[in-house]
Amino acid sequence: MVWLVWSCLVGASSIWAAHVVALSARELPVDTGFRLQATLLALAVTFIGMFAGFALSTKRNIRLAPEFGGIVFGLTLVSMGLATSMAQAGAPTAGALPSVSLWSLLLGACLGAIALSFVPQLRAPRALASATAFLFLATMTLHLSVPAPIAPAAQVGSQQSPLSLSDGQMMMVALVICAMAVLFAATGCLLDRQRKLAARRAYSHLSLQDSLTHLPNRHYVQKIATELLERADHQGNACAVVLISLDQFKAINDLHGYRVGDTVLCSMAKTLTDNLGDTVFISRFYGDEFLVINPELETIDEAVEFARLVRSLARRPIQWHSYRLSIRSSIGLAVFPRDGNDLTKLVQRANLAAKQAKSIGGNLIQPYVTGMEEANRWEAGLASDLRNATLENQLSLVFQKQNLARTGDLIGYEALVRWRHAERGPIAPEDFIPIAERSGIILDIGNWVLEAACCEAVTWAAPVTLSVNASPLQFSRSDFVGLVSTVLVRTGFPADRLEIELTESTPIEDHERVHETILSLRKMGVRVAMDDFGKGYSSLNTLQAFPFDKIKVDRAFTRSLETDPHARAILRSAILLGHSFGIPVIAEGVETERQLQFLQEAGCQQVQGFLFGKHLLPSQIKKKQSRLRQTGT
Ligand code: C2E
Ligand code: CA
Ligand code: CA
Repeated sequence: MVWLVWSCLVGASSIWAAHVVALSARELPVDTGFRLQATLLALAVTFIGMFAGFALSTKRNIRLAPEFGGIVFGLTLVSMGLATSMAQAGAPTAGALPSVSLWSLLLGACLGAIALSFVPQLRAPRALASATAFLFLATMTLHLSVPAPIAPAAQVGSQQSPLSLSDGQMMMVALVICAMAVLFAATGCLLDRQRKLAARRAYSHLSLQDSLTHLPNRHYVQKIATELLERADHQGNACAVVLISLDQFKAINDLHGYRVGDTVLCSMAKTLTDNLGDTVFISRFYGDEFLVINPELETIDEAVEFARLVRSLARRPIQWHSYRLSIRSSIGLAVFPRDGNDLTKLVQRANLAAKQAKSIGGNLIQPYVTGMEEANRWEAGLASDLRNATLENQLSLVFQKQNLARTGDLIGYEALVRWRHAERGPIAPEDFIPIAERSGIILDIGNWVLEAACCEAVTWAAPVTLSVNASPLQFSRSDFVGLVSTVLVRTGFPADRLEIELTESTPIEDHERVHETILSLRKMGVRVAMDDFGKGYSSLNTLQAFPFDKIKVDRAFTRSLETDPHARAILRSAILLGHSFGIPVIAEGVETERQLQFLQEAGCQQVQGFLFGKHLLPSQIKKKQSRLRQTGT
């Protein structure tokens, strides 16, 4: 709208002024002059008509809008021509207009319609040229409508009002008005351009900056990547690319709220900016990831040293009101030029290294090493095969006995999943379970295991316990309890014979949800055991945080109890803990009589391990039980 007003101002005033000048410049035998009000009125009419015509020509929802707009424009031009000439002293009155004026009205309307019919395609240079040419012709028609003055000014002198101007004066007024309009429009254009430029600059500034921490964001990193590396290359330097990925940031958000999460990110940004020099580039890369680039290092050792410094800064506890939050992060390091020549590759590799650090527990620096990509690709391939494994019947179950420590009586079986890959053959759970957890496929596998295990166990003659492993990911799902209950109903397996072992294979992030799940399962009569006690770094916290029915001590302690006094101490204290919580303790990985003896003496109630036999296939369990029944009868 603003542009339309400006262009009509400039257009109307210049066409009008040109016409006034042309009229004034005519060499006539009589002196002429202009009635000011009528001449200015002609200008106003031109502006309004032009505005209406142009505005109409851009209406997309009206059929033939450009042509109608053009007609309005053409008629306006010719009318202005007539009106201006009639404002001239000595001009004929409207009743005495020559018939040529009617023809020029018609011609103006036609040419205007043709000119503006190009409006919808104005971006095409040919359409623009045609529109311009026809506009020019339309403008010319106004001169056809000029009637010559019929009486000399001297004769009409008596009629002249005080607002009458001579030709020269009117010409000056027209030129001044036209110049003012042009100046006004030019200033407007300039201001508009500047406003747009400022807006664009502000936008690009914002789009390159993270709004929370005010650090540059990943788009900015891409923008300056080449420059940074060229600088390092030019000076023969090494460049450290360090990717910091906060561990369990989601847990901080869930446990303390988003405001605390934001505080952590801002404090981290501040600590890094305050303590790493000006030549170090720091950015918030993605969510809970920061990217730090130091292009001024001389050797690879210095790069590793720099990564250590970054880690020590990233580990600083963060104060939030009365809380002191300890922050752990997985740090990936890639070094230019050793690990790559372009920043995209370096960041990718630092990221891969950070992921690797996270997958082995986090809280450490992992430099990129050749072969990581292959490992990553291998994992991606395996994950995609794993997705089909449940559909293509590649999964199966084996069962391992659990016995009473003192008598050796059978108390139950633990279901363990097996995967036979179509080409690679059997793959160990220790290799594919972590991949299933990282990719989320564990949810499907877990459901399959639960259903298949219950289906099998319901056929057993002895009413023993069935233990099924479940990942924290399953416990964090709001539908997990419903799923378990559906499986129990569908298979008819009694809830009080089912025990679910919660592993700490991945960190438990959503504490509240997991807590709720455990309570709901227990309400249904299903027991929940804590698997692999002592293996995770926060076993004691986990044990305290959740209401478990059993503690299962990790097999690493059983394995080394004969040689390692620490292992013995941990086993003893786990058994004591179980006593104090009033829940039984089961030791896994029992392979020798001496191990069993130690566990018996320490007061461990239950055991599981190769001493009592290797895994059994479902068919073997059935055979065994029918044999027992036969000998019993
Ligand atoms: P886990 O839950 O600790 O299972 C016990 C593992 O210890 C089994 O390995 C079993 O074969 C092994 N084991 C049992 N007795 C002995 C022994 O006396 N000596 C030794 N050296 N090892 C013994 P497996 O079947 O390879 O499973 C490995 C892990 O994979 C399991 O550890 C569990 O964390 C995971 N896993 C297995 N099945 C499932 C499942 O259905 N769901 C989930 N989420 N994880 C599973
Ligand atoms: Ca287990
Ligand atoms: Ca275990």
